[in-house]
Amino acid sequence: MVNFPERKKTRTVMVGRVAIGGGSLIAIQSMTNTKTANYILTLKQIKELEAAGCELIRVAVPDLDAVAALKRIVNQSPLPVIGDIHFDHRLALAAIAAGAAKVRINPGNLGSKKYFLEVARNADAAGIPLRIGVNAGSLEKKLLDLYRQKPAEALVESALAYVDLLEKINFNRIVVSLKASSVYTTILANRLFTEQATYPLHLGVTEAGPLETGSIKTAIGIGTLLAEGIGDTIRVSLTADPVEEVRVARKIIQALGLRIFEPELISCPTCGRCETDLVALTKDVETVIADLSLPLRIAVMGCAVNGPGEAREADLGICAGKKKGLIFRKGKVVKTVKIKQLIDAFKAELEDLLQELS
Ligand code: SF4
Repeated sequence: MVNFPERKKTRTVMVGRVAIGGGSLIAIQSMTNTKTANYILTLKQIKELEAAGCELIRVAVPDLDAVAALKRIVNQSPLPVIGDIHFDHRLALAAIAAGAAKVRINPGNLGSKKYFLEVARNADAAGIPLRIGVNAGSLEKKLLDLYRQKPAEALVESALAYVDLLEKINFNRIVVSLKASSVYTTILANRLFTEQATYPLHLGVTEAGPLETGSIKTAIGIGTLLAEGIGDTIRVSLTADPVEEVRVARKIIQALGLRIFEPELISCPTCGRCETDLVALTKDVETVIADLSLPLRIAVMGCAVNGPGEAREADLGICAGKKKGLIFRKGKVVKTVKIKQLIDAFKAELEDLLQELS
């Protein structure tokens, strides 16, 4: 029995119907990479992301054409829509007016405190939250020296100063993100912030990279924090199809046991005892279980001698020998079949198992 660390207590902030913080499920978000002005393509991508398991969607609002499309996107999106604004506070005001469920700004690049507070007052009137994004690129000049020596401290100092400004006007619907492309800085900054404030945290490692590198960096950065009970919503930033971001986000959350989205597939790394193409067999099993959302453990092992024992935790598993294959449940062999019939026998046994569980 694993003892998970308690989630850090944070306030609850609603983004449309989705709760962030306050012990709610870790919410998965992603960002469209279509031109927002093309609302047809943007809505198509939002629907694809929803189908992949995305729960909150952010869209870039870089100009007035995007603003014009935003209202339609907000009205037709199956997910709460977050407007992503840089530099021009008027775009933030327009996104709020268009019905965005939340607006993400980097106060450091809005130009002035006055503009920042104007956005906050409008968000307050609309009853929506703001995400205060802080990263190296938007840090105030006075913090740059500190950033060079203590980057995490500089990010936190910047975020807390903006939080303080919002609290002074009684605005508390705040989500904070402290991002760096350095995994260590991201981890340290979020830990430090959690010691000093209770606003929910949006976690991410910024500019993490392409699919493989970015997934690993993010899994370490976000995963470390989530394992410590820190973080309320996550976005995996990848130079890839955003659907991949959602898939990776779900896998990070599931790997920590924080939510279960799909069966866990255990497969052995193979060794000199393996007498079959286990990579192909594992892919076949992956396809068979792809649409299941039950918390099952499924194992694919490369030899009949050690397989069932090594994977005795699995609810259902297969071992592939040279000519024969085994089907086992919780370490006990329940069927022996010819190797060519193994995948069909697995499907039949899975059906039986699902019947028993229904
Ligand atoms: Fe090797 Fe068999 Fe273990 Fe796979 S299950 S790693 S093939 S001993």
